[in-house]
Amino acid sequence: MLFRTLAEHYSELESVSSRLKMMEILSSLFKITGKEEIKFVIYITQGILLPPFEGLEFGVAEKIMEDAISLATGYERDVIENSYNKSGDLGIVAFDFKSKTKLKRMLDNGYSVSDVYNKMYKIANTNGPGSKDLKIKMIAELIASSTDLEAKYITRYVLGELRLGVGDYTILEALSLAYVGNREEKQSLEYAYNLCSDMGEVGECLAKNGIESIKKFDVSLFKPLRPELAERLPTAEEIIERMGGVCSVEQKYDGFRCQIHKSNNKVKIYSRNLEETTNMFPDLKEAVITDIKSDTIIFEGEALAFNDVTNEFLPFQETIQRKRKHDIKEKSMELPLHLFAFDIIYLNGHSLINEPYSKRRSIIEKLLNTKTITPTKRILTSSPKEFELFFDKSIEDGLEGIVAKDLKSTYVAGARKFSWIKMKRSYKGILSDTLDLVIIGYFLGRGSRAEFKFGGLLCAVYNKERDIFESISKIGTGFTEDNMRMFSSLLGKIKSANKPARVDSIVVPDFWVEPRYVITVRADEITKSPTHTCGKSKNASGLEIGYALRFPRIIENSNIRTDKNAEDATTTSEVIEMYNNQKKISSK
Ligand code: AMP
Repeated sequence: MLFRTLAEHYSELESVSSRLKMMEILSSLFKITGKEEIKFVIYITQGILLPPFEGLEFGVAEKIMEDAISLATGYERDVIENSYNKSGDLGIVAFDFKSKTKLKRMLDNGYSVSDVYNKMYKIANTNGPGSKDLKIKMIAELIASSTDLEAKYITRYVLGELRLGVGDYTILEALSLAYVGNREEKQSLEYAYNLCSDMGEVGECLAKNGIESIKKFDVSLFKPLRPELAERLPTAEEIIERMGGVCSVEQKYDGFRCQIHKSNNKVKIYSRNLEETTNMFPDLKEAVITDIKSDTIIFEGEALAFNDVTNEFLPFQETIQRKRKHDIKEKSMELPLHLFAFDIIYLNGHSLINEPYSKRRSIIEKLLNTKTITPTKRILTSSPKEFELFFDKSIEDGLEGIVAKDLKSTYVAGARKFSWIKMKRSYKGILSDTLDLVIIGYFLGRGSRAEFKFGGLLCAVYNKERDIFESISKIGTGFTEDNMRMFSSLLGKIKSANKPARVDSIVVPDFWVEPRYVITVRADEITKSPTHTCGKSKNASGLEIGYALRFPRIIENSNIRTDKNAEDATTTSEVIEMYNNQKKISSK
């Protein structure tokens, strides 16, 4: 397929706002895509070269792109930069200057999607001395021989911002419509995606082998699964009732979630948002190679700084120091991590995801019990009293709370189901749990904050059913001066004058930003509000009412949650559930 055809579909996508329409446009695009190119079309539409766990990025900043556009169109670099400062979108700049340039187009037939993808792949793999100039030259050549519309999307793709307004779930639905003829197989596709985290692979498998092979999809080594997540309930009674009697109550540790894949001496560790983090944990890697006696294994646990002499957990502020690019080895000796294993997914060539938790747990107890790696501490109980005692003891030990597990449940990749239920420590008058919110805009500082060019954030939650971000709160407190500087510089780079396509908000910030960064926020209460769009529905008098946060503040020492993507933020249905739980507690 010609890249031009892809660009035309993208342009059409940008011109509509209804998700249904977007899905139909995508589906007609997939229908005319050959089996050999479907993977590329999916990756490009996602704005990536390969899934995040492969760790391949373009490594192209705005400045490089400005140079490339200048070289391709013959306009001075300053002119390009000025235009960028006005529009805030280098894709539009590339389009405009390509339309105006007198430099002749060199290619008559046009690039295919594979041509563009392969060139992009080469650009991303160009490293080392002199690579910057080489990248500029390669991108410029590509733009010089493209149409203006192609140049727009090539530019945005290289910068990792296609701005199409389509999320992963819309792509999955469109795949179902294109290859099965209806949207009903979206769930089977989502299941396969949850097992391999590679939408390109899922699309290719569907195109080549049909939906039946998607239904047979299984776990594979070195393809991280999307992690299972925990629901929440406020009391021990409710958790036990929901679990239907005896359940496993595990301590909840606050560290780095690690998904570890091992095949003989090859070990890779993946984070909560499926990036490869093996280099960060040389001590854990070593422990897995030397102490875990199995040829192949995939298991999960929480790694944190723990003093195994005094049996003391160190605070998260200590553990977080292990997140660094330099002096990794030194720090790992100074602050060794302990891994509390809480699940096993694969062993010696066999997937365990469909085995009940109780069986997976007994394997953990036998196999993952070494000096550095031990099973999470837990009790089995059906007594609320015993449950609460264990919970209180865990809090006393400096932990966050507990996660209760259903003994019969399978491993549910990528989903928040009631097979795991968390209960966290609560503060008087304060919501017991924090929320992970996506930044969708920010306000300029006034008064003493003017110098930081930052006065607060506009944040949203993720509505999975609508595949968009709904506003829930402005956040103006809790920021340190360093925080403000960091947000101003980070968000300044991705600000835009127009509301991003996947954002639903009545509140208008000084600048919008693409939903990308997640922060953790504490609040006193969830309230109903006509100001925000989170979970909005019409009340008895026909007024649209959503949910908002009372006294929201960014938590102390909080930074951007680099372990979470925008779609990993707290969801609208979780907010509604938290609101209902809160009502139950206050009526007690
Ligand atoms: P939260 O991030 O608050 O939704 O809590 C879920 C997270 O708790 C998981 O993603 C794990 O990283 C972490 N965690 C700590 N201890 C456990 C445990 N025993 N079982 C499952 N998850 C745990």
